[in-house]
Amino acid sequence: MRVRYAPSPTGLLHLGGARTALFNWLFARHHGGAFILRVEDTDRKRYRPDALTDTMSMLRWLGIDWDEGPEVGGPYGPYFQLQRAEIYRNYAQQLVDQGDAYYCFCSIERLAALRAEQERRHLPPGYDRHCRGLNPAQAAARARRGESCVIRFKMPLEGQTTLHDLIRGDITWENRLQEDFVILKSDGLPTYHLANVVDDTLMRISHIMRADEWIPSAPKHLQMYRAFGWKPPLYAHLPILLNPSGTGKMSKRKQAERKPWDEATLVRDFKEDGYLPEALVNFLALLGWAWDDRTELFTVDELIAKFDLDRVKPSPAALNYDKLEWMNGVYIRQLSSEDFVRRVRPFFEQAGYQVSDTVLLQLTPLIQGRIKTLREAVEKASFLFAEQIKPDPAQLIGKDMTPQDSLTALEQARAILAVIEPFEAEPMETALRALAERLGLQAGQLFGILRVAVTGQTVAPPLFGMLALLGREKTLARLDQAALHLAQLAEAEAGP
Ligand code: GLU
Ligand code: ZN
Repeated sequence: MRVRYAPSPTGLLHLGGARTALFNWLFARHHGGAFILRVEDTDRKRYRPDALTDTMSMLRWLGIDWDEGPEVGGPYGPYFQLQRAEIYRNYAQQLVDQGDAYYCFCSIERLAALRAEQERRHLPPGYDRHCRGLNPAQAAARARRGESCVIRFKMPLEGQTTLHDLIRGDITWENRLQEDFVILKSDGLPTYHLANVVDDTLMRISHIMRADEWIPSAPKHLQMYRAFGWKPPLYAHLPILLNPSGTGKMSKRKQAERKPWDEATLVRDFKEDGYLPEALVNFLALLGWAWDDRTELFTVDELIAKFDLDRVKPSPAALNYDKLEWMNGVYIRQLSSEDFVRRVRPFFEQAGYQVSDTVLLQLTPLIQGRIKTLREAVEKASFLFAEQIKPDPAQLIGKDMTPQDSLTALEQARAILAVIEPFEAEPMETALRALAERLGLQAGQLFGILRVAVTGQTVAPPLFGMLALLGREKTLARLDQAALHLAQLAEAEAGP
């Protein structure tokens, strides 16, 4: 079995493309077949130089490796269509010679006028087969003399074409409603249709798994296979991806813009937001495939063992970012401490914090279980590394307390923390609980004041663990800063 992912380098890798690549890759790995990466780069107008590098690095990040293709080579190369132009020209010529294709000399102006006329009369758009009746010998002579022309495929004017889709069953088209589409452009490069069919044949592709948006191309391709006398690969058009549902926290920023098939769902953005590749792979695998009606977590090895086309359903798959976030949290919790440190480190570095592995290892038990993305680790712990924090003074006031009472509590806590030995979570907690009791406060009231004073946040990872990491000196400095704020508030309250 040989399958391929055949991106056009016109944009960066998005979730839709990644899902297509993943399904092909899982299929190949499951069946012990080959997974080929082929670059369909003959559309020079939409070409983007960064598209292929992004696609390759994101596929590799996801763990999707290819057996043949760019950088790895293979026996059926080259794997860039631009380097195969000669091959396609020869096959286009073959179709012309055998009467299955013809030269079209229609000018851009004529085609534009035709389209305008079709619009005006509410007719379906399409080429009117104007040049199909030209004398082939004369047309060939004109082309040889250098007259600008394209080559069009001669669709049969009668009969039907049926696609036997492995996921969707049979889909049938009336041939006479199909256009005589261009296979070779005036610049001598093939269109997607010709290059795709020729390459899938020469590269011995057995199964085509691709986005549903290519279904309308299927009758064109099937007719070309017939004309060439080639056996078409088996087709499986993957279910469409629907717009996001749910309100995933980390993705809110971009959620409004994210649509499944466009650049707003770039794989690199998920990487930068702190999603783990194994979580994204698990998530993508369930976009159209399911093992049963409940299992949601699959390692890559389990996916390879279980994945097959018979469990891919044609119904649309909704992108649910809440689910992705949940999965990511699960995968984060499963990481060993060392692995966790290795993965969060770049996020701290990117935020400008130089943090040692020792500190990160100490931090790990305090945050690993509380975050859904790696980026959140930085948000939760940034107060440890920031030079200054700016608590909202109003939040320094304890629940159901006056500013003066809060100040008193804070000062007494400071006195304890100034001398407690060792400066570690357990002794701190014991001593401060006792203090709360002496002051007639709930522990939560006192801890809330300290939390805001030291972290600037009302919700933060376990307080005393964080104080221990912050160290005595910084803790006391922040408490002093907070005391100043509270003193001002208390004064204002007391009035003139
Ligand atoms: N180059 C096409 C794309 O960008 C490939 C479609 C196919 O797999 O046939 O999706
Ligand atoms: Zn024409």
